[in-house]
Amino acid sequence: MSDQKQTKLNQLKQAIIDAKLTPELAATATQLVFGDGNPNADLVFIGEAPGKNEDLQGIPFVGAAGKFLNEMLEMIGLDRQDIYITNIVKYRPPNNRDPLPEEKAEFLPYLQQQLAIIKPKLIITLGRHSMECFLPGLKISQCHGQAKRKAGQVYLPLFHPAAALYNGGMRQTVIDDFMTIPALLEIINETK
Ligand code: URA
Repeated sequence: MSDQKQTKLNQLKQAIIDAKLTPELAATATQLVFGDGNPNADLVFIGEAPGKNEDLQGIPFVGAAGKFLNEMLEMIGLDRQDIYITNIVKYRPPNNRDPLPEEKAEFLPYLQQQLAIIKPKLIITLGRHSMECFLPGLKISQCHGQAKRKAGQVYLPLFHPAAALYNGGMRQTVIDDFMTIPALLEIINETK
């Protein structure tokens, strides 16, 4: 089952490369950062775009934000092999600028295919850009940590872990929101 998913994900990665999305980003990036983790996971985390370390290693969330994310996963008894993680935009924007609306729009259909292959029980958006792709019109400052069900899929919008690194005052809020994940998964499992 999971092998089949991995095969489909590999094909999707190749389809993105072949489609030559966002050629300007592709030209300055080292490589496509497609996704990492367990294709059979219940939880998929979606960030914004790769940063410098991700671009060099080809793996999402391996820099400082990723380290903090790993720490929070450990707090809820999970590690990276229990989850799947990816970004909306899969090439590093130059100088880590925000992804542009048109860049997000180009990648979105492929992200949707990625999710259709994995079929997670819970999609966790990390940061405003990721949230807006799935739950447009919401304000992250108002809805962080509150699960939403839309078209049969449950989403949990969270602040980006980097927010806690830039602003130490947010660290506890980011952790508190993250700690709601196990109970939410339990509810999803019970109501299925
Ligand atoms: N921030 C993101 O949004 N994605 C990464 O992969 C790394 C940092």
